[in-house]
Amino acid sequence: MSDESYELRIIDGKVLAQQVEEEVRSGVEDLESNRGVIPGLATILVGDDPASKMYVRLKHRACERVGIRAEDYLLPAEATQEELLSLIDTLNKTRDVHAILLQLPLPKHFSPQEAMEAISPAKDADGFHPYNMGKLMIGDEGLVPCTPHGVIRALEEYNVPVKGKNAVIIGHSNVVGKPMAAMLLNRNATVSVCHIFTDDLKKYTLGADIIVVAAGVKHLIKADMVKEGAVIFDVGITKEEGGVYGDVDFENVIKKASLVTPVPGGVGPMTIAMLMKHVLMCAEKNL
Ligand code: NAD
Repeated sequence: MSDESYELRIIDGKVLAQQVEEEVRSGVEDLESNRGVIPGLATILVGDDPASKMYVRLKHRACERVGIRAEDYLLPAEATQEELLSLIDTLNKTRDVHAILLQLPLPKHFSPQEAMEAISPAKDADGFHPYNMGKLMIGDEGLVPCTPHGVIRALEEYNVPVKGKNAVIIGHSNVVGKPMAAMLLNRNATVSVCHIFTDDLKKYTLGADIIVVAAGVKHLIKADMVKEGAVIFDVGITKEEGGVYGDVDFENVIKKASLVTPVPGGVGPMTIAMLMKHVLMCAEKNL
């Protein structure tokens, strides 16, 4: 394969993210000049997990790039569920906080579900609230989880047909796999959801036109598991000494797939860009 055709098969998440951020920046400028409102995001970080701190930092940097005002709320790991709920309650009532993001995972003694449900659905930038999840299930997509939203945006940008296509999702978490399945179903794909208990994963992946893999298992998807021309989104992240790896054996799979996202530089930047879009949506709806 020539270098050129190799590059044509890579979905460049950074370029797509810049495009989305450009749209958000322009939306933020409009909101400010027409309504005098600057969108505000409050992030909540509990404890000092280095990976979580890094993710919050990346989100704050994205806010700076697009002109969103970001506030950083830090609670110590020993804080109580009540303290967290009380902070969320205050932020729900704060007018210039249009969106709230609770960085997960929380330390073990917290109930993340209760905390997510405490966030006002109108300020739910991550789209994890059961109200927003329920709307997604009935095809009324508003604030939806950022990672699957980024995948959908990339499918649109690359003109990948979805209707009637076989889509296989690997991973059935509430943050990626399940909302991804709902979003593809809403677009009339034929969707299979595989997970750790799926017997014979290859049987499903070989028939897939579109694969979204979010298992967190380094190089789970090998070239002999995909059909010629498949479109593949690699959500997984495995950090090892010496590198960051996706769930796809990229070097070999790219020889068969028509499009693949790299790790890093694929789904990750799109996830953050979609978060920016959601903050703008929250601000536009709650002036
Ligand atoms: P999770 O741990 O909640 O879920 C993992 C899913 O993968 C489960 O459904 C499990 O059944 C399935 N699974 C695990 N091993 C499997 C195997 N061998 N075969 C088939 N299925 C298997 O994880 P999550 O929160 O959905 O995240 C998944 C991965 O995606 C992680 O690596 C995470 O870091 C990454 N992630 C990346 C982004 C991003 O923006 N790039 C966003 C969210 C999650």
